[in-house]
Amino acid sequence: METTVDAARERVARLFRMVGLDPQLMERYPHEFSGGMRQRAVIAMALSCDPAVIIADEPTTALDVIVQDRILRELKDVQQELRMAMIYISHDIGVVAEVTDRMGVMYAGNLVELGDTDDVFGAPLHPYTAALMSSFPSVSGEKTALATLPGEPPNLIDPPTGCPFHPRCAYATDECRREYPPQVSRGTQWAACWHPLDKNDAGG
Ligand code: SF4
Repeated sequence: METTVDAARERVARLFRMVGLDPQLMERYPHEFSGGMRQRAVIAMALSCDPAVIIADEPTTALDVIVQDRILRELKDVQQELRMAMIYISHDIGVVAEVTDRMGVMYAGNLVELGDTDDVFGAPLHPYTAALMSSFPSVSGEKTALATLPGEPPNLIDPPTGCPFHPRCAYATDECRREYPPQVSRGTQWAACWHPLDKNDAGG
């Protein structure tokens, strides 16, 4: 008869295989694992609770790009296999493009744009989203100077009036300085902005 210990070991072995780890390694200590293996082990631990949703906050930050790419693909496979939702939090917009179906952009603690990832990348509504996108190089596109944003992120203890992005926004008007912007939508997207970009504006 299978004991509880046997069942637990079989479950760990299954989880290890799911995240691309050799089950024979389950007796090892964390310091005997590489960074990528530790990351996989932590993902296996998260999956062991049979979650309906996983919140992955910068899960591949400390890893080199090759390991990062492999883990991201494995995470996506596991997500599809277990049919669970995943909320992926990252500063790396390239990873967001690869991993997500829908994306939200935050600035100064506020969600400023939300939409299907392809649509947001194709034509952002919010000037901050557009600025983020033009600050990353394109692998396949034309070589251009990367854009930078003037100024600093706002002090959240004493945030700016109106739209918190207005001190850094090239489109800011008096209205933006006075009042928090309304929500505007287009297709799958919405943004909080007085003067949303249209599809022909730069930055998409
Ligand atoms: S509301 Fe105004 S300041 Fe804020 S992002 Fe839109 S255009 Fe810029």
